[in-house]
Amino acid sequence: MTHQHLSPEVEDYLEHLYMRQHEGYMGALPELSDRGMGELLRHHLAVFEGGAVTLTKDGLAKAERAVRRHRLAERLLHDVIDVHGRDVDHAACEFEHSLHHGVDEHICTLLGHPKTCPHGRPIPPGKCCREKKRAADAAIAPLSTMKKDERGTIAYLSSRQPETVQKLMALGALPGATVHVIQLFPSVVFQVGQTQVAVDSALAGDIYVRRAGG
Ligand SMILES: [Zn+2]
Ligand SMILES: [Zn+2]
Repeated sequence: MTHQHLSPEVEDYLEHLYMRQHEGYMGALPELSDRGMGELLRHHLAVFEGGAVTLTKDGLAKAERAVRRHRLAERLLHDVIDVHGRDVDHAACEFEHSLHHGVDEHICTLLGHPKTCPHGRPIPPGKCCREKKRAADAAIAPLSTMKKDERGTIAYLSSRQPETVQKLMALGALPGATVHVIQLFPSVVFQVGQTQVAVDSALAGDIYVRRAGG
């Protein structure tokens, strides 16, 4: 197995194909240069048939990892470096291509293995997420993995379900709010502002906190 890097152009193309095949993306595919097309075919990443283009098994695996890097880059820029709006998209596009060779796993661990990008799209899990490494050193971690008495600031809510997000926000669990973990079992209890809130651990897993003193 080789770990040859694909060109950014081909990676972007694979990402769009992935979103089409797996996420109902309806937009146009980026234009590929002759060089990019040659690369795509030489590595057997996609097949063209009857005007349609489909990822091969190998192409799918590479596309998934490229999508993962892109969304992790967004998460990092958005949450840690505090870049917002259109700048996130631009910077992420540049940045993702340098997250090779396990760097994505370090970033994923640092961020507490986030499940979604800042746009709410799922981040395909990596080896680090599947091994469920408890990120003792994560700068941003789900509230459910923090320790009793730990403090921090809510970085973001990862749930894609509007009811969940509304419920958390109604409790005052908003990005930017400071939290203090009171108890972890049997339910997760934390102080947010002047209020003590109890949630189950699934819900606590949707609250990502920038840990104090990290
Ligand atoms: Zn995104
Ligand atoms: Zn991970």
